[in-house]
Amino acid sequence: MVVVMSERATEAQVDAVIARLIELGMDVHRSSGATRTVLGVVGANKIEKELIEILEGVSEVLRISEPYKRASRSYRPEDTIVQVGDVRIGGDEVIVMAGPCSAETEEQCHASAAAVKRAGAKVLRGGAFKPRSSPYSFQGHGEKGLQMLRDAADAHNLQLISEVMDLSQIELIGRYADIFQVGARNMQNFTLLRELGHARKPVLLKRGLMATIEEWLLSAEYILSGGNNDVILCERGIRTFETATRNTFDISAIPVVEKLSHLPIIADPSHGAGRRDMVAQLARAAVAAGADGLIIEVHNDPDHALSDGAQSLFPTQFDRLMAELRIIAPAIGRGICLEPVAKRGWGV
Ligand code: PEP
Ligand code: MN
Repeated sequence: MVVVMSERATEAQVDAVIARLIELGMDVHRSSGATRTVLGVVGANKIEKELIEILEGVSEVLRISEPYKRASRSYRPEDTIVQVGDVRIGGDEVIVMAGPCSAETEEQCHASAAAVKRAGAKVLRGGAFKPRSSPYSFQGHGEKGLQMLRDAADAHNLQLISEVMDLSQIELIGRYADIFQVGARNMQNFTLLRELGHARKPVLLKRGLMATIEEWLLSAEYILSGGNNDVILCERGIRTFETATRNTFDISAIPVVEKLSHLPIIADPSHGAGRRDMVAQLARAAVAAGADGLIIEVHNDPDHALSDGAQSLFPTQFDRLMAELRIIAPAIGRGICLEPVAKRGWGV
């Protein structure tokens, strides 16, 4: 439920209401706006609305109608900002995560990391455990891959995101990566989500190939209800009847999620398009639509990549895209990578 305090409620009254809710076994999230305080309340116990309505300073008690509670905007009206090192995801700045689909070699990780850093990315992406449709495709280098990615991220002062596919990998991946990525195929792996609810690191939750936005937010709820508030959503395209692109990138998911949830939402135009000649267009559209960030596949030699080469950008294409995003982001009141690219020697 949501407890809306009256505009005239005193601090002592707000504290008393919070104390009473905690006494009733509930978890409370306080949001103090310019004029009033709103309390988001969840818990296993069902409590009578009237019990709270009669407390001093309470203006209104509303039930949260969405099936997801902690993920909903009504529970927490203000945007969640996920902090990873010195990177803030969900704030004014559009954050770009970029790098190869998979870690292949040390040289490839370093060259890709250098290229994305130079263009303004803040987070290096790369998989060491790969969820491939075919068991005969490259499955990733496991811990060796994580080590290569970590070294490359450190060498270029980048945060690192890497995919976790299974419960048994959480501890290992947590030792190397700064953000856990849950892939589209695992969006409803509820045991994995529950366990990540106890993790001390942020989780990027990709939308499942066949998931509705409500199902996706319910999956986020599994992580949030375990006590991990640092969840970032990622739209990466869904499966539709259309076959011209690998997936159908659902641009409308960005404003829909922004309305329904306080969680940051970023976009993955690489898996949305499935081909590199369409990645920039989708990336630009996602930023214009209000995405808090992007995750993009960039490879130093995409034509020889062991996975997703066709959708991976060449570094020069990524440079160009970042320069375009630097024009789009301010048009909607956002920042993106403080230093202008010209200062970094972008010359395409
Ligand atoms: C990936 O990021 O390389 C990946 C496998 O993504 P998705 O889970 O969206 O298919
Ligand atoms: Mn990929």
